Amino acid sequence: MKSKTPIHGNCHLCGRYRQLTYEHIPPQAAFNNHTILYDDIVKLLTKGFDQPFKGKQQQGGIGRYTLCSDCNSFTGREYGAPYVSWCMQGMEVLHRTASNPFIDMPFHIFPLRVLKQIVSMFLSVNGIGWRNANMDLVEFVYLPKRKYLSRKYSVYAFYSVSAIQRQSGTAIRFCTNERFENLGMDAFSEITFPPFGYVMTVDNDAHDSRLVDISYFANRAENELRMEYLKLPVLPIFTSYPGDYRTKEEIEEDIRTNERRDRERANQSL
Ligand SMILES: [Zn+2]
Repeated sequence: MKSKTPIHGNCHLCGRYRQLTYEHIPPQAAFNNHTILYDDIVKLLTKGFDQPFKGKQQQGGIGRYTLCSDCNSFTGREYGAPYVSWCMQGMEVLHRTASNPFIDMPFHIFPLRVLKQIVSMFLSVNGIGWRNANMDLVEFVYLPKRKYLSRKYSVYAFYSVSAIQRQSGTAIRFCTNERFENLGMDAFSEITFPPFGYVMTVDNDAHDSRLVDISYFANRAENELRMEYLKLPVLPIFTSYPGDYRTKEEIEEDIRTNERRDRERANQSL
């Protein structure tokens, strides 16, 4: 939500203490602006691009105060348009396949710039401490020509057509089996906003095998416009928990299982 009073803090890109500007995540032109009601994006996917947008206006689009004005204009100038083009193509794929893309779809994009925009969004949704601990990512975003990401970083993508959008800084998820035995944990950040969702991990594998690794976008050159073929899954999102891709039926089944378990425990303790 936009603030009426100036907000100061450390910029999540350059790190300097400055007045911060409202950073739209994703960029405004990628279906995140005040003239589009969020629900309309989802309707767009079912009804098509010819339908006019209707509905009341959303206040300013989704985002947060994370970047100084210099860094905000810098990322917008360098990566904004390529990122928006990637999103438009993603919307088009979902629309043309009725949200069921089952083959590799071609994306005519600047892969390196798209990835830099995605990484800059992860710098924004994570705290300043995360930025300071991952200066390699700062450099990656700051230098448009800089290629390659360190192997410890992975960025994954999927399609999201859900009306629920999630932006989470690093979340820790404890994994258990059916008997609640600990299977370890994984840490990841997640950003979802139609048409895409992204997961970023540091020194960690993806927590869901359906996620598609797009870290190789970092190996392309700055001005390399090319065709990337991608077969991304449409992952269901029905809760606000990062990393939760259960279908409605799976969630209902889990609720029933938990209730049954609670009843059994209550009976045992009688
Ligand atoms: Zn800055």
